[in-house]
Amino acid sequence: MPTVKITLDGVQLEVDNKKTIIEAARENNVHIPHFCWHEKLSASGNCRICLVEVEKMPKLAIACMTQVAEGMIVHTKNERVINAREAVMEFILINHPLDCPICDEAGECKLQDYAYKYSKGFSRFIDDKNHKEKRVEIGPRVMFDAERCISCSRCIRFCDEVAGVHQLQFVQRGDRVTIETFPGESLDNPYSMNVVDICPVGALTNKEFRFKSRVWEMSFTDSVCSGCARGCNIEIGVRNNEILRLNPRKNDDVNSVWMCDHGRLETWKHVNAETRIKSPMIRKEGQLVEVGWDEAIAKTASELKSFGKNEIALLGSAYATNEDNYVFAKFAREVLGTKNIDFARHHSGADDAVLIRADKTPNATGAEIVGVHPADGGLSFEKIIAGIKEGKIKAVYAMECDFASLPGVEEALSKLEFLAVHASNENATTKHADVVFAASTYAEKNGTITNFQQRVQRIRPAVTTLEQDRAMDNFEMSRWDKFAAHNDKWGKGPRRDARPSWKIVASIAGVMGTKFKYNTADDVFNEICQKVEGFKGLSFLKVGKKGALLKQSTVTA
Ligand code: SF4
Ligand code: SF4
Repeated sequence: MPTVKITLDGVQLEVDNKKTIIEAARENNVHIPHFCWHEKLSASGNCRICLVEVEKMPKLAIACMTQVAEGMIVHTKNERVINAREAVMEFILINHPLDCPICDEAGECKLQDYAYKYSKGFSRFIDDKNHKEKRVEIGPRVMFDAERCISCSRCIRFCDEVAGVHQLQFVQRGDRVTIETFPGESLDNPYSMNVVDICPVGALTNKEFRFKSRVWEMSFTDSVCSGCARGCNIEIGVRNNEILRLNPRKNDDVNSVWMCDHGRLETWKHVNAETRIKSPMIRKEGQLVEVGWDEAIAKTASELKSFGKNEIALLGSAYATNEDNYVFAKFAREVLGTKNIDFARHHSGADDAVLIRADKTPNATGAEIVGVHPADGGLSFEKIIAGIKEGKIKAVYAMECDFASLPGVEEALSKLEFLAVHASNENATTKHADVVFAASTYAEKNGTITNFQQRVQRIRPAVTTLEQDRAMDNFEMSRWDKFAAHNDKWGKGPRRDARPSWKIVASIAGVMGTKFKYNTADDVFNEICQKVEGFKGLSFLKVGKKGALLKQSTVTA
């Protein structure tokens, strides 16, 4: 990489000669303010807040469009630069409504932050501000407030360069300038809501999240989207133990800084839904009735014991974690001795060249690799269904997938003598179950999932369950810390009596006489890392925030 030597605020640096000043400064932890520049979009150089002084240049230069050169001496904080920044801020704020108290962006707004940091703190303008359109439904999922727009063009460039559709355009000139779609068109591309994230002000807002919460009242937890096999890195925003929004989290190896609208809007509603299974249930006199965990576990253990190993089949899940699937496969092998174990691979749909994958499950790769596949003469998913119809398979233990919604499966399930399922929400499969275990969703548990690239990524609890609350109560911590953990992070919202699937399986194994010695998902993962080839050498710590690639594609026997 050819480099050049520059001096930035008195510090000598050697930087890539292709970089602009803003990029070189950023790589060396020097922040140059910017509105229109975005690391993943082309530079447009229109906001002028990134003005810096380059010695021997007659005028200040915009750092986002000026390439570094040998011997360049750059000042980002001297008096001339500070005066220019204050002038640009004054200019941008002339017509801005300054309605932070009622603006959804407040608390995470670049303009608000820069107004505190880089402006004089008062306005010399006494004239009326320009008024423009407010609450414009610019797309089915995005609302536009023209008065707040600072004409940075990030949203236009995002549509052109990332989503690949020219849906937004500047119209008018000077202080009348605004963004619009072509008449009759709307901002409706599958990635449209990313413009909300990159808009540096509150001009573009998420229609669904608007006015639900101030951001400083929420907690944010790093996780992974469960909407398809891409596994986009996300941040789950929660208030009062209820998920209010998802946002993309940067991971250049997976999703850059973007996510699709489907993943953002549709992959978490079930966590808050009324259809949540609130505790374990057993069918009594034809009806599913809520029971305690011990009763549901004992019933399942005794029912499974009453069938021959060839009469039983286990259905793992491409929606469950590596840990859930690993313990499930171990239960099939070591406790039941059945080889009839598989999962449904039928969840495909449309894909595209940006992020969206055809496989709509988050962990088909992981389920397969940790052992959920027919072993040595065992039955595949299709053969299990056929076996049920023929009366050869009489009992099924199934986990975290609405199998009954797949063609031809519901009819088969109704023929079973015993069906136990783990589910987070009522669905077509739970209607046929004899025992239903309340399973934690991806937002309520620790664990890992493996995306289509064989990248193992961490999920973490963003909302709490009753079990986690109880564990917290038993944990050695001060009363104040407990209060803070319960109330600041999760608030007083609803709790479900749900457990992670690996833990439910381990409890049944224990009652059937085989002790699985795991206390946490971490313990399960450590065992996976010892026993499953591709995982060797990994740990939760190594997976970290950005995930880790499996060493090789290995399917265990
Ligand atoms: S709506 Fe936001 S992103 Fe688009 S031009 Fe205006 S300020 Fe920039
Ligand atoms: S592309 Fe897939 S993983 Fe990414 S946000 Fe969309 S549904 Fe979620």
